[in-house]
Amino acid sequence: MLRAMRYAVVLALLVAAAVWLAEQPGAVTLVWRGYRLDTSVSILVFAVAVIAAIAALVYRFWRFLRHAPATVTQAWRDRRRRHGYEALTRGMVAVAAGDAEEARRQVRRAEGLLNEPPLTLLLSAQAAQLAGDDRAAAAFFESMTKRPETEFLGLRGLLTQALRRGDTVEALALARRAFRLRPKGEWVATQLFDLEVSAHRWLDARATTEDALTHDHLTKDQARGRHAVLACQMGRDAGRRGDREEALRLAREAYGLDAGLVPAALELARLLVEDGKHRKAAKIIEETWRRSPHPDLVALYWRAREAEAALARVKASERLAAVRPEHRESALAIASAALPAQLWGEARKHLEQAAGADAPARVYRMLAELEEAGHGDLARAREWLMQASLADPDPAWVCRTCGNATADWSAVCGKCGTFDGFAWAAPSHAARLESAPSPRLLAETAAPEKEGAS
Ligand SMILES: [Zn+2]
Repeated sequence: MLRAMRYAVVLALLVAAAVWLAEQPGAVTLVWRGYRLDTSVSILVFAVAVIAAIAALVYRFWRFLRHAPATVTQAWRDRRRRHGYEALTRGMVAVAAGDAEEARRQVRRAEGLLNEPPLTLLLSAQAAQLAGDDRAAAAFFESMTKRPETEFLGLRGLLTQALRRGDTVEALALARRAFRLRPKGEWVATQLFDLEVSAHRWLDARATTEDALTHDHLTKDQARGRHAVLACQMGRDAGRRGDREEALRLAREAYGLDAGLVPAALELARLLVEDGKHRKAAKIIEETWRRSPHPDLVALYWRAREAEAALARVKASERLAAVRPEHRESALAIASAALPAQLWGEARKHLEQAAGADAPARVYRMLAELEEAGHGDLARAREWLMQASLADPDPAWVCRTCGNATADWSAVCGKCGTFDGFAWAAPSHAARLESAPSPRLLAETAAPEKEGAS
């Protein structure tokens, strides 16, 4: 509306100007190269206006011609890009759907249309993996590692492949590279730690734990627990090598970090007893008994208390049991000293206290021994032995991941490689432990009869 009015006004002004010009008298004479042109001023003005309009049109046409190729090329490029991204999207959907053939087709299209190697490389690798062509996938991942923007993704792909093949040496090297690149990534930090512990590289695992704590992948308590287990394992290794000083230092460190870690307490107390530091050793065993009573601690406690005679051992056992009087292991500690001391009444009292639901076979074997040695009652002894065969198996170090049961603790399960996975429990109870947060936490917080007589 406004435009139409403006046009009308401009038109009216032009008409008025033309009329005014036509009414003006005056003639123009042009002489050029022997030609002569006589005309009026109004015609001349009109002619100049027409020439100016034609010149403007010609200039615009020339400009259009000059920019046309660039505009056309840009439009063509935009179309290719759009189609390229479309192919890429379709390829990703095909990967997600598990359609290897379609994924490969779309990758080829995207590669032709897009000049974006980082994107097409990743899709190519995924498509190759999907088609089961690990070598092609590895080649794509390898070329991704050569570009800074895709290096990490390429390393991650190669690492996943190495883990699947079970090539831990290669996986460890790749995890290190990936971790150096992105120390904040939790996945890589976890993989690196697992690989280091399965390769028994305890010192590296310790450094990785420190880094994981710095980047908040672990809580302070979790890091402390890991450090305790690592120090304990390193101490035991040092002991086996014959490096007594190092073994003592590391056992002390492990015990200081986690007094409930039975293998650390056993190692430290044993070394202290050998050094003649009996009182110190006894204190350490008592502290660990308070947190996680364990039958292996009993004999060491007798040595720490210098209890050679049978009766002295009963007294020592009573002293240790007083730390956790309600615990089944405390009753068994006294019974195991009372039997050789021929204190039949004392032994019976504590064995009956230890028997009952969830009691391990060991309790019934000791009851059989009591009947046979103490009372000569072979029939009754046989009954207890029968009961022992029906009871829960004796506790052992049981891996919470794979259920592997072993008498000798170690930081890493020899069967499945789980770190800090061993809990002292009845082997048949392994299934119950699977969902447990931490084996030691479980041992410390569970009710005594649920601990599989630990
Ligand atoms: Zn295991």
